[in-house]
Amino acid sequence: MKVAKGKYHIWTVGCQMNMADSQRVSSILDGLGWEEVPTMETANLVVLNTCSVREQPEKRAHGQLSLLRIAKKQRSDLLVAMMGCMIGNQRTIDDLKKRYPVVDLFFKVEKADILPQFLEERWTPLAGEGCIDFADLGVPRDIGTGATLPMLPSAPAAHTGSPMQIMPRPAARDLQYPNSVTVGLKTRGPTAWLPVILGCNKVCSYCIVPSRRGVERSRSIEELLAEAGDLVTSGARELTLLGQTVEAYGLDLPGQQADLGDLMERLSDIASLSRIRFMTSYPRHFTDKLIKHMAALPKVCPHVNIPVQHGDDGVLQRMRRGYTLAEYRELIDKLRAWWPGVALSTDIIVGFCGETEDEFRHTLDLLEDIRFDVVHVAAYSPRPGTLSYKWDDDVPLALKKERLHKVEALQERISTEINRGYLGRDEEVLIEAHQVAGDQHQWRGRNPCNKLVFFPANMPTEKAPRRSSTSAAEQTKTRNGVGLAEPPVARTQVRPGDLVMVRIEKTTPWSLQGRLAMH
Ligand code: SAM
Repeated sequence: MKVAKGKYHIWTVGCQMNMADSQRVSSILDGLGWEEVPTMETANLVVLNTCSVREQPEKRAHGQLSLLRIAKKQRSDLLVAMMGCMIGNQRTIDDLKKRYPVVDLFFKVEKADILPQFLEERWTPLAGEGCIDFADLGVPRDIGTGATLPMLPSAPAAHTGSPMQIMPRPAARDLQYPNSVTVGLKTRGPTAWLPVILGCNKVCSYCIVPSRRGVERSRSIEELLAEAGDLVTSGARELTLLGQTVEAYGLDLPGQQADLGDLMERLSDIASLSRIRFMTSYPRHFTDKLIKHMAALPKVCPHVNIPVQHGDDGVLQRMRRGYTLAEYRELIDKLRAWWPGVALSTDIIVGFCGETEDEFRHTLDLLEDIRFDVVHVAAYSPRPGTLSYKWDDDVPLALKKERLHKVEALQERISTEINRGYLGRDEEVLIEAHQVAGDQHQWRGRNPCNKLVFFPANMPTEKAPRRSSTSAAEQTKTRNGVGLAEPPVARTQVRPGDLVMVRIEKTTPWSLQGRLAMH
């Protein structure tokens, strides 16, 4: 299929799964010879990757669609595609179609291999290859101002027609990512996402995800190993295995051939892969066997993001979370006992239907008691189509905000105290990127527990004499006689993807700062 070349921009909101999906779409478009541009103004194809988990990201998508409606009146060469959680069922698509005729394609990531056909049918460059740059026409770059754009010179119109809608059958178990992109995924630096299980089977009363992303579908271990190998070949040193309930990986595979621990073990064999992370955990799927298996795999980072959502059993029941606090606490005790040094983060919702002052206090008590490293807190947002949408959203917004700030303030103190414990320690850091803060050149990376670490960069840094891709944990294992490994490097000439040791000299609730440790 020959598709004329153009420029694209992907606008992404929401969770890590959305980011991974955008990366996949980006790889398909790159494969067609399309060029990614950083803003919408010069793009011929704008893809909106949307999120419906709360009302706010939906509002942002509506804002983008309004801007695109204006832009498209001025540009006959602009195509708009929409994906992500706002693409629900036929009814939601029909509503969106009526409201936004500007959208040319509604699709789910599982059907992203429709893009070449879509572009072949709908995309006609204005003049030869590429697109007209707004900047060349004296048009303001910021279409976010709502200003009307001057008309472009008349040009052959792109093929028009009613929007294409490409979506999987509801609840189709067999739908996976398009096979055409299991290889060739591009990486953006040394860290990459690897979605291992799609969809969600849980029935949390507040959550829209299951109805938007379908039932749980694990990708085959062969497909994942191939994709992981490909990501590592193109530069990834750390993979984050993604799923809404990532420990459910494998439960739906024929004969339950592999669970998440088995997958991690197979991925650990990839020599140049230094680290494996995973998220998000659902408490009931975290078995004793899984904890022990993960803890024994040196490349698996000791960090678990395990949403509790609330600190009161009554509210957990109304949320239909499927566990009690006693069960949750028992799991945390096991994690800490069997995986020494494991860092824990969680998600909390405040202001859920009927939440009393007492119930809310139980959440604060739980946080004080467990002392998570990080807490992601959100105010309850009623989502049409969920069970709790039918219930009274009776906690006023001002009170939701007040509770949210109380959780943030408590967690800030706890994180401050936990992070202070890192002072003077040498931490293994995988360097992710270089950044400039004021006149300071810094390297940014993370330690195994997922703490952000910054340390000064000496410029220039192009010449790195050697690289290490072996984690400190793996060295312990090798020191025990399992194999050979280089120690993490301590030097000034480093680059993204290197593992280095950093001596921590300063801490905040959100990060650690230090300098390269000389050993
Ligand atoms: N699957 C994970 C779990 O076990 O809950 C989390 C995935 S969910 C997409 C990400 C987070 O969004 C949830 O942990 C929850 O805290 C938040 N969330 C989901 N629905 C929400 C709602 N209606 N209002 C506010 N926050 C919500």
